[in-house]
Amino acid sequence: MSSPVITSRNVLTRNSMRFAAALLAALASFVAGPNAALAAAPQHHDQGPGFYRQKVGDLEVTALFDGFGVFDPHWLNGMKATMDGVVEALREDPHMLEVADIGFLVNTGKQLILVDAGAGTWWGGGAFGRLADSLRSAGYTPEEVDIVLVTHLHSDHVGGLTTQDGKRVFSNADVYVAEAESDFWLSPEIAAKAPKDAQPFFQSAQAIAAPYVKAGKWHTFSGSEPIVDGVQLVPLPGHTPGHTGYEFSSIGQKILFWGDTIHAQRVQLQHPEVTVVFDIDQTAAAATRNQLLPKLAREDVLIAGPHMLFPGLGRLHKEGRGYSWAPVGFTDQWVEHAPSPQK
Ligand SMILES: [Zn+2]
Repeated sequence: MSSPVITSRNVLTRNSMRFAAALLAALASFVAGPNAALAAAPQHHDQGPGFYRQKVGDLEVTALFDGFGVFDPHWLNGMKATMDGVVEALREDPHMLEVADIGFLVNTGKQLILVDAGAGTWWGGGAFGRLADSLRSAGYTPEEVDIVLVTHLHSDHVGGLTTQDGKRVFSNADVYVAEAESDFWLSPEIAAKAPKDAQPFFQSAQAIAAPYVKAGKWHTFSGSEPIVDGVQLVPLPGHTPGHTGYEFSSIGQKILFWGDTIHAQRVQLQHPEVTVVFDIDQTAAAATRNQLLPKLAREDVLIAGPHMLFPGLGRLHKEGRGYSWAPVGFTDQWVEHAPSPQK
């Protein structure tokens, strides 16, 4: 089809139509009052689907939104001066402790691997638990997932595995977790001796694991044995006894799924020594951060963090005595990312 020829007659018609529209708008505002909109557009209360894709070498990583929340300042432990500073900063910036809960799906081209499964119905008042919906929005079904790698057994990371009535959500998946982690949370003896406020963590871990254990789909690893090609286990002790990160590599590019290395990104990146009450071994958790963060910043590693703000993908840069977070930029095109600069 050829493009329409603009004649003087067309221009005239268009101008007179514009004039008519302006006249109508003026009349409408005269009738309804000067501030009334011509036609009020309804607000849309739904959000775009909760997934975000990122290419890492040949891997397709999809961040899956599970929920959003606000971290309680009382859950942070640090030097008095640092904590006073946090309370002071919160007065001016009430958004400082916002967190997300995110799981990540890796499509290797051969397998679908989920790293952490969100909270399902096992964590608090319903702000979390959307991962399965996000997964479907991203074009996959829970039944298609082959493997679930879990960083640890807190229910905001594994609750999505199992329904409240004990059914496996990922009915064909093999679940992998560190032996130290599984042995700790699934032990009735350790649970019996744990303080009362820690009991729910044991109960949820045991209920969530049970149907996978029964089906022979619950697997543990104790060292660096290979589970999936191109995946390296990265022990990150402190938060929990077997807290483990997973580093995927593909054609020279890397992504580290770091679990709960950081909870409150705007506090703990500036103050890596600040721990959280959920860290079972506070000293080890801080030591793990002190070891890991400089390396990640130096090597410009892409990080996937379940509690960083969605989509939880970014890199670290050294800033002062701490680090700043450089989130990935949105794109809807598969760009080949430039290789990391040699440092
Ligand atoms: Zn967590």
